[in-house]
Amino acid sequence: ARRQGLSQVIGYEAGMEAAADKRYTLSHDLYHALRGDEIHIALQPQVDLASGRVVGAEALARWTKRDGTSIPPSEFIPMAEANGLIVPLGRRIIELACIALARLGSAGFGNIPVAVNVSALQLARDGFLNDLRATVELHGLPASLLEIEVTESIAMDERTGTSNVLEQLRDAGFPLAIDDFGTGYSSLSYLRSLPATTLKIDRSFVHEIGNTPERLAIADMIIRLGQRFDMRLVAEGVETPAQREWLIARGCHQAQGYFFGRPQPLSDLLTTLRGWQAN
Ligand code: C2E
Ligand code: CA
Ligand code: CA
Ligand code: CA
Repeated sequence: ARRQGLSQVIGYEAGMEAAADKRYTLSHDLYHALRGDEIHIALQPQVDLASGRVVGAEALARWTKRDGTSIPPSEFIPMAEANGLIVPLGRRIIELACIALARLGSAGFGNIPVAVNVSALQLARDGFLNDLRATVELHGLPASLLEIEVTESIAMDERTGTSNVLEQLRDAGFPLAIDDFGTGYSSLSYLRSLPATTLKIDRSFVHEIGNTPERLAIADMIIRLGQRFDMRLVAEGVETPAQREWLIARGCHQAQGYFFGRPQPLSDLLTTLRGWQAN
């Protein structure tokens, strides 16, 4: 029994080492990806539900290695959050979003805001707001075009002291969206005190439209809450016409999802926008 125990221990450690090796290699690769040009963004259109028009876009980080393989954000974002690379990575994403905004502006679509996802570590850094201000200024953009998305759990975490940063963001003119709303356990009075302009309904609720009555009740409640607080409501992960119809009937304003458009290169988004303009 003892020998077996030992081999189990050794096997376990070997497995852990392999996992650690893989993590190390990926961290190392990401570090180099940041210095090269392997990191880019995909823009997912946000549409006005009533008209179907594109009214904004969310910038999502993409990592395509030089050999053509892609690493999904679900792998490299948590890793970058763990090893601190999220700070330079986030800075790069914000820069790319500003470049996209400037191009939208020169193409005649200077009224389309772009949202970026910001992690807790980025937000907690001294100088985050100053960096942000400097970046929009450098690209000749008003702060109002760069929306900052933070998850509900970050926004609600009073311990990290983020609420102060959030107020400073608002005062500087950056719109603020609460991402994945409905998945945390926010107190409603705390939500009310947040300087947020947008509520994004998590896609887990949107998926249940037509299925589970309780989840539907939550989606319904979020919509009413957003209306009550005068916030812009964006439903995430809309994939079907039935989901779209339900959201319209409930008075949700905007939506994002494969039904309207996948995360895409700026050139594709511009094609869609020009199509609308021609009509
Ligand atoms: P998120 O912010 O909630 O972004 C929405 C995710 O849902 C994206 O996944 C998007 O591709 C996906 N999605 C959009 N429409 C649909 C749909 O109709 N159906 C389904 N099933 N999925 C849909 P993605 O691009 O893989 O990103 C995953 C997560 O990684 C994001 O979730 C966000 O939390 C994080 N992330 C992505 N880019 C960044 C970034 O630049 N910085 C930070 N901090 N996090 C990022
Ligand atoms: Ca998001
Ligand atoms: Ca989300
Ligand atoms: Ca999410």
